[in-house]
Amino acid sequence: MAGMTLPDPIKNPKVKYTKLFINNEYVNAVSGKTFPTLNPSTGEKIASIQEGDKADIDKAVKAAKAAFEPNTPWRMMNASHRGILLNKMADLLERDRVYISSLETMDNGKPFRDMYMNDMTMAINTFRYYAGWTDKIMGRTIPVDGPFFCYTRHEPVGICGQIIPWNFPVMMMTWKVAPALACGNCIVLKPAEQTPLTALYLGSLFKEAGFPAGVVNIVAGYGPTAGAAISSHPHINKVAFTGSTEVGKIIMKAAADSNLKRVTLELGGKSPNVIFADANLDFAAEMSHQALFYNQGQCCTAGSRTYVQEEIYEDFKERLVNRAKARSVGDPFDPKFESGPQIDETQFKKILSLIDIGIKEGAKLECGGKAIKGKGYFIEPTVFSGVTESMTIGREEIFGPVQQIIKFKDMTDLIEKANNTEYGLAAAIFTNDLERAITFCNSVKAGSVWVNAYNVICPQSPFGGFKMSGIGRELGEYGLQQYTEVKTVMLNPMTKL
Ligand code: ADP
Repeated sequence: MAGMTLPDPIKNPKVKYTKLFINNEYVNAVSGKTFPTLNPSTGEKIASIQEGDKADIDKAVKAAKAAFEPNTPWRMMNASHRGILLNKMADLLERDRVYISSLETMDNGKPFRDMYMNDMTMAINTFRYYAGWTDKIMGRTIPVDGPFFCYTRHEPVGICGQIIPWNFPVMMMTWKVAPALACGNCIVLKPAEQTPLTALYLGSLFKEAGFPAGVVNIVAGYGPTAGAAISSHPHINKVAFTGSTEVGKIIMKAAADSNLKRVTLELGGKSPNVIFADANLDFAAEMSHQALFYNQGQCCTAGSRTYVQEEIYEDFKERLVNRAKARSVGDPFDPKFESGPQIDETQFKKILSLIDIGIKEGAKLECGGKAIKGKGYFIEPTVFSGVTESMTIGREEIFGPVQQIIKFKDMTDLIEKANNTEYGLAAAIFTNDLERAITFCNSVKAGSVWVNAYNVICPQSPFGGFKMSGIGRELGEYGLQQYTEVKTVMLNPMTKL
């Protein structure tokens, strides 16, 4: 963020909360079981976390249902007061920004600078944005046929299950929690098992901000147990999920098989990032590098198919390779490094195996390709050229620091290639030709398209995927629609019937 100075991190932040947050209290799991959360920079255990399962989700749903009964403090609260509470959350995140950022850097491995400057800014701004909405969520009066007075009410959906991933833990949590609370819902949230620490800490902030007991419940645990208990729960009215397409399908099935709960999904991507020969190449090269390598390549929006026009292909490839070679990887607490480790051993191995597959299938390895020796899950920034969409690395989401460069000829060739994917999350184009930019924006099948920019995501504008990248939208006014039910009221004004 321009003008913001980076404070020193807390190198070894104290873990304050390891229990489940239910009904505004920290409690042990019913089973008494725990699971370890690891530091990806070392592979060592940070803390033992209470392991939530079906019985704990049941407890959390019970608390949420009680808070959602008519006449409770939450249901009786003025809509404007919900806005005050959401703004208070933003204030508390500001107050604890260094601590929360440090905790995340330890648990997730992302550079402290990125967390402090970017994730936290987005989280705070998302709370503030939705704080402004609470008393502006309005229905309509509709001129229906007949004598009837017709109006709609935008009511909260009820109990919302929210399952979040490990790549942007605090940010993903706020994208889900803030609009749900703005609309007056109650929440049962499960953080990813790799990164439970910040979510559990935020529980204490919800209590401090003044949210009544049961409105926000946070149950840490694994996907197939605690996560599945959310998606199949008969008393959860809606499930919102961010994660892999594979798990998104499981969640949607479980939602349908249980109580047909509402479903929103933010899933994977294989986003095309396009560079035309007329673009500002210095700028485009830096942006294309960041489009892929930011957050260790662990972004659902990663520009993982870099399309370069044939006349600049060799030159631009060289720029990307040189930039990747110069990318510094190391201790995420040290601001001199641009990248930290991958999240865990599973992802680390998966990425290395996809690199091997890329080589075997005939892509040209330009740089990197190996694990960095020593502790932790660090991987060299890796670039492949000569990639095609039929190769595994041109098709599958890698979710790591591996860039694919693909040659294209002209707009017709490009559109065909760019849309040759089952995903449709994001896309970008670098060009100085407006007609070309607009043609691309209109033709590419993606939920977000950036022109001479990448990864510009704002609380005010919707975000989500076409095709197998998701269902529904988060953020902006569109994001609110996913957290309300529309009720149509027909009133006969003639009282003497
Ligand atoms: P990734 O592959 O990036 O780890 P996942 O889609 O596996 O992403 O996980 C994202 C979130 O979904 C995590 O909170 C995880 O625990 C949860 N999850 C994983 N499997 C399931 C499942 N079968 N049902 C519900 N949630 C799940």
